[in-house]
Amino acid sequence: MPSETEVPAGQIRPADSGGRDAFPHRHLLSIAHLKPWEIRFLLDEAEHWVGVNRGAAQKHDDRLAGLTQINAFFENSTRTLLSFEIAGKRLGADVVNMHAAQSSVKKGETLIDTAVTLNAMHADVIVIRHGSSGAVQLIADKVDCPVLNAGDGWHEHPTQALLDALTIRRRRGFIEGQIVTICGDVLHSRVARSNMLCLAALGAQVRVVAPPTLMPAAVECMGATPYTRFDEALAGSDVVMMLRLQNERMDGAFIPSPREYHALYGLTPERLAIAKPDALVMHPGPMNRGVEITSGVADDPDRSAITEQVEMGVAVRMACLDVLTRSARGVEGWT
Ligand code: ASP
Repeated sequence: MPSETEVPAGQIRPADSGGRDAFPHRHLLSIAHLKPWEIRFLLDEAEHWVGVNRGAAQKHDDRLAGLTQINAFFENSTRTLLSFEIAGKRLGADVVNMHAAQSSVKKGETLIDTAVTLNAMHADVIVIRHGSSGAVQLIADKVDCPVLNAGDGWHEHPTQALLDALTIRRRRGFIEGQIVTICGDVLHSRVARSNMLCLAALGAQVRVVAPPTLMPAAVECMGATPYTRFDEALAGSDVVMMLRLQNERMDGAFIPSPREYHALYGLTPERLAIAKPDALVMHPGPMNRGVEITSGVADDPDRSAITEQVEMGVAVRMACLDVLTRSARGVEGWT
């Protein structure tokens, strides 16, 4: 249930926040539902887990011991599924992965029947990825435990935006005022939607650049400024975030050819030189090398934060799993 408390910009959380008001949501379904201080709160919690994960000897903190975490993935995933699994295991939960390809979904089971089944097994937290926008909300409405959205259709991918924000905050020192350019298949990208909302909420200047066929309507409503020329958007950028062409979501030809797309929207070392000299390069993965990004940029250790994004993914997911289960675990002030 969203808090009614209004918090002045820049304040990390309400001065009187006791307990659950520190994060007044049962589920994490979107960035659109979060206030800036709630986003900052999750980023601050994740900082703790970055330190734990970097510890050589002991990465375990068993605060979720005895709880069951189900990762129900109805779409393919490498980074998100693995990092949610590692995050749950490091927190001591019993983690079970449900791959839709091997489940009764293939036999025609409805999403609601799947949700009721997961609920009957007394899951304590469910992480869901689904190809349809809104499907995760539908499941969240049917189960008794917290639900985390691991990507639903073109809609949102909130933990990706949080890990991206954490990466930027750590590498650049702050987010407010940073010029962040998001380039590529914005139309089909849940990563772009969550990032526009998250970065704008944290005070960044967000630019989105795409061919007209891949630019969604009204990006201004998500806090971003649209561009069609990549070079124009790149000028003065502090961060350049590249997106994959999501061919699996395309119903028709949105670009003339990958070669032509690369010529206009591919990030090369020459093009990166138009951005600020120390501009950071990001990509949520998986990358199509030679299409939206060249290896010369992706593998440049001084400029690319791509592997750091993966590292931050584990920390952010640990923070989200911890925070969302505090109430069920009876953590003082959260019940
Ligand atoms: N891994 C991200 C997602 O699930 C980005 C991508 O697939 O291109 O949306």
